[in-house]
Amino acid sequence: MIIDRKMNFLLVEDDTIDVKNVQRAFKKNDISNPLHVAGNGEEALLMLRGNGVGPSIVPPPQVILLDLNMPKMNGIEFLQELRKDPELKSISVFVLTTSDEERDKVAAYNLNVSGYILKPIDTTQFKDAMKTLEAYWSLCEYPSQE
Ligand SMILES: [Mg+2]
Repeated sequence: MIIDRKMNFLLVEDDTIDVKNVQRAFKKNDISNPLHVAGNGEEALLMLRGNGVGPSIVPPPQVILLDLNMPKMNGIEFLQELRKDPELKSISVFVLTTSDEERDKVAAYNLNVSGYILKPIDTTQFKDAMKTLEAYWSLCEYPSQE
């Protein structure tokens, strides 16, 4: 099953190597959906809400991959803002982090994340993790955004 080509993904990640890892894993799994990248929570909110000129991702992403440790606005702070926003609160968010801290897991699930994934160590594991996520996204129905 192929995901609607128009379905946009947003990766919120400050580490350029991790951005590359996700992009490479998308490519290796033939996931051709546009993957937008924001460097921190603040930048992601700007992209989602627009800056008086409308959002920069159209249609808005239905899935966000979110790092937790980021400058300016971290992943948990971003999630708090996202869930307060009537336009954005229903977006599925998967945390992709190196943080194995219990308090981060609790905070993330309290903000209704769809999954909390520890960043895979090597490229093969990264590829497999994205393949599993793609299988999940392909199985899910999302509201039409036309
Ligand atoms: Mg980080």
